[in-house]
Amino acid sequence: MSNSMRVRFAPSPTGALHIGGIRTALYNYLLAKQQGGTFILRIEDTDQGRYVEGAEDYITTALEWCGIEVDESPKKGGNYGPYRQSERKDIYQKYVQQLVDSGRAYYAFDTAEDLATQRKAAETNKQTFKYGIANRDTLNNSLTLSAADVQSRLDDGTPYTVRLKVPEDEQIVIEDRVRGTVTFDTVELDDKILMKADGMPTYHLANVVDDHLMKISHVIRGEEWLPSTAHHVLLYRAFNWEDTMPQFAHLPLILKPNGKGKLSKRDGAKFGFPVFPLSWEGATEADSFQGFKEYGVLPTALVNFLAFLGWNPGTEQEIFTLDELVNAFSIEQIGKSGARFDIDKGKWFNQQYIIHSDTKHLATQLRPLLQEKSYEVSDDYLLKVIDLMKERAVVLPDILEQGYFFFEDIHTYDEKAVRKNWKVELRTGFEYFLGLLDAAEPFTAEHLENTIKAFIKDRELPMGKVLQIFRLAISGTLKGPSVFEMAATLGKEEVRQRVKHSYMEFDKITKE
Ligand code: GLU
Repeated sequence: MSNSMRVRFAPSPTGALHIGGIRTALYNYLLAKQQGGTFILRIEDTDQGRYVEGAEDYITTALEWCGIEVDESPKKGGNYGPYRQSERKDIYQKYVQQLVDSGRAYYAFDTAEDLATQRKAAETNKQTFKYGIANRDTLNNSLTLSAADVQSRLDDGTPYTVRLKVPEDEQIVIEDRVRGTVTFDTVELDDKILMKADGMPTYHLANVVDDHLMKISHVIRGEEWLPSTAHHVLLYRAFNWEDTMPQFAHLPLILKPNGKGKLSKRDGAKFGFPVFPLSWEGATEADSFQGFKEYGVLPTALVNFLAFLGWNPGTEQEIFTLDELVNAFSIEQIGKSGARFDIDKGKWFNQQYIIHSDTKHLATQLRPLLQEKSYEVSDDYLLKVIDLMKERAVVLPDILEQGYFFFEDIHTYDEKAVRKNWKVELRTGFEYFLGLLDAAEPFTAEHLENTIKAFIKDRELPMGKVLQIFRLAISGTLKGPSVFEMAATLGKEEVRQRVKHSYMEFDKITKE
C-alpha cells in the first residue's frame, strides 16, 4: 500500500456545513487513514461575496466533534500551505499568466452589460448563452482584439477576466472510481472564467492549481462536481500536468427522506431531524439550523450513519466504530445511485449507540441539559436513571424527557390508564400497600418485587392491575422500565409520598 495517498476536503466557508459535506470529509478521511495517507482540510474562500464569518470555525469544530482528524489544515499547518485559498492569491496569478502566455487562456473585456445583452438575445431565440467555441471569435476578448489594443486596455486598467480557451473537437474521458467511464465532448463546454475582474481565481482554477501543488492523489467529492471535472481535466492538460492528475471519485447524492430529490438544508426543519452536525445561528431565522449534537445524537452514531449513506460493507454488519470503518471502507463499495437520508435508520443508529454507550459517558453529556432544567441530582442517582432509561431513548434528551419524573413531581397522569385500573374500593388495599413499602428493607428492586408480588398473591388481587396502578402512582405513565427498579431508584420516601398523593389524583380522575 502506498502512503503517497493525499486527499483533501475542500469546503467553501459560506455557512453551516451540511451533512453531505461531513460525509465527503468522512470518506476522504477513511481512505486516507486506511492507506496510511494524509487528509487535508483546504478552505476554498476565493468567492468573497459568499464568505460567511464563523463558517470556517464551524467546519473545524464539526469535524473535531465527529472525530475526523485532519493532518494538514489552516490551523494545523503543513508543508503545502497556506491552506486558505484567499492567502494564495499570488500563486494563482502566476499560473493564470502561464496559461495566457501559452494560448490556453485569454483575456475577456466584455462588460457585465455586454454579457447581459448577449444572454437576452439568446433567450429571445430560446437558447442559452454560452461563452465558448461557437461565439468567442465574435466577442470582446484577446482572441478578437489586436495585440496592441489588448495591451493598452491592460495598461489603462480596463477590467477583464481570464477565460479558459476550451479546445475544439476534443474528448475528455474520465475514469471515475465510482461512476466508471464518463465522457465529455469539448463542444458541450463553455470557456469558464479562471480569474475574475477582482483578481481572484474562480473555484476551477484555484481547485486545480491547489490539488496539483498540494500533491492530491484522489479527489473525492460530491456528484454535483462531476460536470466541472471536464474543465478540470482541460486545465490539467493545459498546464501539462495530466500525468500526475488525481484520480476522481464522485460520491452519490444524498436524497430526501422520501427519496424524491436532493436533501436540502431546509429539509431538517421540514422532516424534524437535523441535517447539520452542529447548530448554526445564521443572520436570519430561516438561515439558522439545529444540529445533530444539540438534538441529542452521538457523534459516533452520526459517523456510522453517514458512512452508510452511499457505502455499505457488503456484509450484514451495521455497527462500526470509526476504526472499524477505516479498515472496512473501500471506494469499490461506494454506490452510484443516490442514498436516501433515512431518518428512521439514523434514529436506530443513535439508539444502538446510546444503549451501548458507557453510562458515565452519557452522564457527562447529559449534565448540561440537567443544568438547563435546574435538576440537581447526585452522580450516583443520575447513573441509575440513565441505566434504566437508555434502552428507550432515541436521542439523549429523551432520557430526561421520558424520565422527567425522576427529577421532578409528576405533571400528568395517563388518565385513560387510571380510569381503566383504579377503583375507589382499592384504597384500603393501598393503605396496606403503603405499610408494606414502609417496612420494605432494603428498598431494593429485588426485595420490592418479592414482597409486593407476595402481597398481591396473598390477597388474591389482580397482579397486572395492581402493578399498573403502582406504576401510574410513581411515574404517571404506563411506559417505562421495571416498576421495581424505578421505585428503588426513587427511594422509599419519595415512593411513599407519590403513592399517597396518587390516591387523590386517581379519585379526581375517575370521578370526572
Ligand atoms: N469548494 C468546493 C465545495 O465547496 C470543493 C469541491 C471539490 O471538492 O472540488 O464543495
